[in-house]
Amino acid sequence: MSLNQNPARVRFAPSPTGFLHIGGARTALYDYLLARQTGGTFILRIEDTDQKRYQESAEVDFQEALNWLGLVPDEGPDQGGPYSPYRQSLRKEIYQDHAEQLIKKGNAFYCFCAPERLNRVREDQIKNNQTPHYDGTCRNLTKNQTTERIATGESFVIRFKSPKTGTTVVEDFLRGEIRFENNTLDDMILIKSNGLPVYHLAAIVDDYLMGITHVIRASEWLPTFPIHVMIYQAFGWQQPIWVHLSVFLKPDGKGKMSKRDTKLAQERGLPIFIKDMEKLGYLPEAVINWIALMGWSYDDKTEFFTLEDLIEKFSLEKLNPSPAAINFSKLDHFNGLHIRNLDLEDFATRIKPWFNNAGYQPDGEKLLKIASAIQTRTKKLTEVVDMTGFFFLDEIELAVDRIISDKLISSQAIKAVQRITKLFQVTPEINAETTEEALRDIAADLNLKAGQIFSLLRETSTGQAVTPPIFDVIDIIGKETVIKRLESAATKLKKHSQ
Ligand code: GLU
Repeated sequence: MSLNQNPARVRFAPSPTGFLHIGGARTALYDYLLARQTGGTFILRIEDTDQKRYQESAEVDFQEALNWLGLVPDEGPDQGGPYSPYRQSLRKEIYQDHAEQLIKKGNAFYCFCAPERLNRVREDQIKNNQTPHYDGTCRNLTKNQTTERIATGESFVIRFKSPKTGTTVVEDFLRGEIRFENNTLDDMILIKSNGLPVYHLAAIVDDYLMGITHVIRASEWLPTFPIHVMIYQAFGWQQPIWVHLSVFLKPDGKGKMSKRDTKLAQERGLPIFIKDMEKLGYLPEAVINWIALMGWSYDDKTEFFTLEDLIEKFSLEKLNPSPAAINFSKLDHFNGLHIRNLDLEDFATRIKPWFNNAGYQPDGEKLLKIASAIQTRTKKLTEVVDMTGFFFLDEIELAVDRIISDKLISSQAIKAVQRITKLFQVTPEINAETTEEALRDIAADLNLKAGQIFSLLRETSTGQAVTPPIFDVIDIIGKETVIKRLESAATKLKKHSQ
């Protein structure tokens, strides 16, 4: 998108019926990028007119998740703004007023049909292999009939009066023109019997009143897209640019990701909901990078993007409407890249809470040294404590079974540990320059390979087979502790061999 484009007003309009997942976050991200890139406005609108499915916790979650991702709205329920309120349940009269305008224009009608009758009609239609639709009973009631029935207190809904003939042509930015035969369109309910609007009316009215320039939304809205366009046309309003995003496929690419699949994936510990990402050890930067590329690409090569890069490079033209399979291992990959991209201090700040939660309190120099030793090998923040717990423990657990084998029998291991201990005791400062050669000599003396000595040193001073470079590790643990661990390892090995 060229930078001299008019400022976009874009909205993320979630229904607070569940927590923010990667699909919603992707929509919010694209909205945000377009707004930032054009010097426009990113709006959060809460579509909470479905009282049965409303969840207060979901609304809190949206705000927190957007904040965590760094996608903070310019206007919204918390921020306020010139088009307040940004919560649909507080805009009831606006929708009622607009529904009445549509009735006056002949584009909507009061419907008094009892739900029980409509259910029977529906069942019959299904039995006769018809797509269920409203049978039109109240479409042509006269004004007087309607007024009378309302006066007697009959319950009613307001429905859109879809044309029964002709074709409606709508335009999606990514798919071009889409044609709908009007005889396939239903008379959708706009206002329910409790006076609250449904999405089809509320979203359209708000998008218009809030000056929305681009509607970026999920492609689940494509089937009712013609109704939305007809509502714009009925009011004589200019339509926004419509962008329906690609659907997500299951990781194996076989079929759409359903609500059930989403739940199953979450139960398996996969990163589906934004609120889980932090706990799973992901950086917001990586999540942003990952979801940005689920349906958009810059070119075929570039895959690393910061939010700043995306603001500069994003374009609606490069969105891809084809379904995209969710690739979870890609997120791990991006997480590693973004972890490596952090300044050391920043990385240290992010890993500190993980240590604190595990009961360790590294600070200052020690924290920075640990951070530096593990930054390049960390894929998820969940790993940092396991990778480095040995830095904090008084006693490490010695994996005798890993140490002793037919290639390194007990007596050799004990001798080697004793030699290393002596070497360290007489070396004022232990590092590669001061000890590496001597360690190699010990290996040669004992007829062992240098690698065996180093892995023995690693096992006995950390209790682990894999660690950051051993001299970095020794520097952090400290000479005294290392010597203590070596001595205790020798004792344990001796006990084991008896
Ligand atoms: N409330 C709708 C949803 O959550 C919003 C769709 C839209 O962006 O228009 O699906």
